[in-house]
Amino acid sequence: MAHWKQRTVAKRVSCTGIGLHSGRPATLTLAPAAADAGITFVRMDLGIEIPARNELVVDTMLSTSVAVGKARVSTVEHVMAALHGMGIDNCRVEVDGPEIPILDGSAAPFVCLVHEAGVKELSAGRRYLVVDRAVELRDGDKVARLEPSDAFSVEFTADFGHPLITNQSFRVTLTDRSFEREIARARTFCFLRDIERMQAMGLARGGSLENAIVVDDFSILNPEGLRFPDEFARHKVLDAVGDLALLGMPVVGAFSATKSGHAMNQALVKKVLAEASSHRVVRVSAEADAPSIHARVPVAVPGGQIA
Ligand SMILES: [Zn+2]
Repeated sequence: MAHWKQRTVAKRVSCTGIGLHSGRPATLTLAPAAADAGITFVRMDLGIEIPARNELVVDTMLSTSVAVGKARVSTVEHVMAALHGMGIDNCRVEVDGPEIPILDGSAAPFVCLVHEAGVKELSAGRRYLVVDRAVELRDGDKVARLEPSDAFSVEFTADFGHPLITNQSFRVTLTDRSFEREIARARTFCFLRDIERMQAMGLARGGSLENAIVVDDFSILNPEGLRFPDEFARHKVLDAVGDLALLGMPVVGAFSATKSGHAMNQALVKKVLAEASSHRVVRVSAEADAPSIHARVPVAVPGGQIA
């Protein structure tokens, strides 16, 4: 494949699961989309399309939600991470309710769906958001930063003041394979002490040991244990990849964060988009050969590496 062309999924593929917060069953379908369409969520029950763009983000409390009017889709970050991490530029993400199914709490089931669908190359060249100047947000000891780099890398330091999650860092340079191998399987996590509080607020109704790591004061309650020793930091990297996907195109830049979350990540995305001098949008000619591209757009972005 020529890696400078936009990609979509080759055919429709579906899965069914429950929403983490609503506890309701939902069916999700990935469907092909045209070049430059981007990722669009489609509320099939309402017939409303919601483009996956930062300006349509309405809620970042526990997950990232996008909405057009009253039509909302919640918990978009894991499927966004999977599509972005697998180098899918354009896709319709159809869902028959207000929440993306949580499945196993990671991005791995969505990566499997992309494999099941296959990848189709489109005739248009890809667009990249190339970071030219660092943009940073700070709030006490929380930091989120995007700076120039010749690759797309994500680094996260998680620190929850908990014996199992103290100063845990993970850094990855993203390519198709590194996302799938090192990030996709990392599951979401929560603290036992927060679950009762969340359920009293009507949240996490679908939460269980099947779709989240649950941690009490000292230990992990899941009988199977962790998938990676640093699964918590890896999942925060996964969330950040999903949040940065709302920039609307692959990023050429280095993201690093300490103790940030969806709200801060989306605020950073908003700031980058608002500061025109912080970045350029580069469209790669679909006919160009890889070596001439290499001088302008680096190779290490999902779907961008030279085979
Ligand atoms: Zn997450």
